Amino acid sequence: MNSYLACFNPVCRAHFGVNEVIYNCPTCGTGLLEAQYDFTGINADALKKTWRERRMDNAPLSQSGVWRYRELFPFVDDTDNVVTLREGNTPLLSAPRAAAYGGLSRITFKHQGFNPTGSFKDNGMTAGVAQARKLGMKRVACVSTGNTSASMAAYASAGGLDPFIFIPNGNISYGKLAQALEYGAKTFQVDANFDQILALVRVLAERLGIYLLNSINPFRIEGQKSIVIEMMDQRDWHVPDWIVLPGGNLGNVSAFGKGLRELKELGFIDKLPRLAVIQAAGSSPFYEYMAAKGLTPFKSQEHPETLATAIKIGDPVSWPKAQLEIETTNGVVERASEQEIADGKAVIGACGIGCEPASAATLAGIKKLVSAGVIAPDADVVAVLTGNVLKDPDYIYRYHTGQLTGPDGAPILPTFGNKPIVVPNDADRITELIG
Ligand SMILES: *Cc1c(COP(=O)(O)O)cnc(C)c1O
Ligand SMILES: [Zn+2]
Repeated sequence: MNSYLACFNPVCRAHFGVNEVIYNCPTCGTGLLEAQYDFTGINADALKKTWRERRMDNAPLSQSGVWRYRELFPFVDDTDNVVTLREGNTPLLSAPRAAAYGGLSRITFKHQGFNPTGSFKDNGMTAGVAQARKLGMKRVACVSTGNTSASMAAYASAGGLDPFIFIPNGNISYGKLAQALEYGAKTFQVDANFDQILALVRVLAERLGIYLLNSINPFRIEGQKSIVIEMMDQRDWHVPDWIVLPGGNLGNVSAFGKGLRELKELGFIDKLPRLAVIQAAGSSPFYEYMAAKGLTPFKSQEHPETLATAIKIGDPVSWPKAQLEIETTNGVVERASEQEIADGKAVIGACGIGCEPASAATLAGIKKLVSAGVIAPDADVVAVLTGNVLKDPDYIYRYHTGQLTGPDGAPILPTFGNKPIVVPNDADRITELIG
């Protein structure tokens, strides 16, 4: 199968070999790269059948909810390079209470928090690490304190590579950093901001032969396409009206859009769902840009603020790809406040499902889009919960006990608070309380 990298910049579109170690287009200097394939010979009906059969097969690659679908991202020719922790295989969960809260008659959550390291980053990281091994790299790196670090550390270590994580000063998310340390990543705290560290890591990558697995990596995007492929497979290829997801660096919406377009072009699905990206109001450069409808150029935000740290991104690298996917699917971009995200999260929790704060932007955004008449109340909506509830327990405890405050110090009300109750060691008194 013929694979290559193409520059995403429409006035450049230069092509490069799939085994070149490049992160931006060397021809125009700035363009994002994307993997392209010659899909000649793909037979949708035959592949649907093959993919179903693989669910019954005990081979590691068949058991992976990513590599089961490898025919649609065939940049790996030798599957010996693949490291799988059985990522993907995440459930579709219906949640009537969350639907009612959002103003919908029904809602389905695709819960990526069921992944091995607890977020959708695993879908992409297994692909990025396969590419690193194919290139013969021994070391991989990323700049992140979040789910990317946790995932990269796990996959690199599982694949015998050395993971290096670079952390901006004073920006530590303990649950996720703890995972990275436990999974054996060499972690450097640098006294500089994110952009400065990224520049530093690029120098080190060149000098020391380290492969970069930041969100710009086009192979991570290829792995993340499997989220929508698996979703359609689980729905017997019935396309929902909407797929809603949170947006930070915008790699995931880029992956969803690309995956869906390819599924449609190859005859797996007969229409495209509409994509809705929800940003946190304090960290919403893509929302601002899309709301201006092309009248102002894209402007990054210097001091993004939100407690939903996974989407606290002021300069989302993948915005040009995200714009294409939103426009192609007649999609929308919405934003949600800290209070709206916190309440949405508690509702998802009360359904027995739970998620991390960034994921709850979905339900918060859906509620707003339904009230605004953008999403119809009887629409078929899949919301993607991107991370596990246990990623951020401190946030949960504070919310339920009324101690959560926004980044600006403003209190966040425990609208659906569920405080622990202090009781005496007294059966009569507790009986009374339970009623
Ligand atoms: C990375 C991440 C996001 C944001 O995804 P992007 O691809 O950066 O837009 C959202 N939620 C969680 C839990 C994440 O880890
Ligand atoms: Zn280019």
